[in-house]
Amino acid sequence: MLQIYQFPCLTDNYGFLIHDTESGATATIDTPDADEILRQAGAKGWRITDVWNTHWHPDHAGGNAAIKEKTGAKVTGPDEVRRIGASPDHVVDEGDVVKLGNLEARVLNVGGHTLGHIAYVFDDAKVAFVGDALFSLGCGRLFEGTPQQMWTSLQKIASLPDDVTLYCAHEYTQSNARFAVSIDQNNAALRERAAEIERLRSANKATVPMSLGQEKATNPFLRAPLLKGAIAMPNAQDWEAFAEIRSRKDNFKG
Ligand code: ZN
Ligand code: FE
Repeated sequence: MLQIYQFPCLTDNYGFLIHDTESGATATIDTPDADEILRQAGAKGWRITDVWNTHWHPDHAGGNAAIKEKTGAKVTGPDEVRRIGASPDHVVDEGDVVKLGNLEARVLNVGGHTLGHIAYVFDDAKVAFVGDALFSLGCGRLFEGTPQQMWTSLQKIASLPDDVTLYCAHEYTQSNARFAVSIDQNNAALRERAAEIERLRSANKATVPMSLGQEKATNPFLRAPLLKGAIAMPNAQDWEAFAEIRSRKDNFKG
């Protein structure tokens, strides 16, 4: 059975430890803060056997070397993780299957935030780790990829079953909600979610994870095809509407 333990890291990252109860194998999804991850694993009584990276950014792969040195963990991730000087032992990309003990996750390439960004999907447990590709009510900034590429990536996530639980790497939901409401004004489900987010955050609670179904109903990036009227681009391609919404978010002063 898959167990997941989530905890805050750095300013607004989340750490995730995933554990196979049968074999005892434990992976950290990304390595935002090696000391904190090792401390949390120790408190759970879990020994880290694996590091699974989503992309090369320092708040995702910066602790690889320290965790590897202290635990001997094997690093799995996209080739781009080399850029931060912590080459994966096992390079993976779209279509690969990664094993944690007896559990299997499928790799999706969800490039756009970085070119090689990947997500890990546990089909049986209906869980996906999406890093900085999709956030609750948001998506990653396009540092390396094109809007078309990112749109294709988001469609891969959106095509999973609605009851898949998504674990994203940052608690950005409250500011994402301000932008979402500004662009999708007549969406009742979004208003309800925004109110729930206010309640959760004022109680210092996480808004992550979230269900894909809920994101499809409320996330303005996934809803780009339905927001063409709202952004005055009725004849745009879906990816063009997505690109416009992404650039509005980049310039949003909420
Ligand atoms: Zn990132
Ligand atoms: Fe990040």
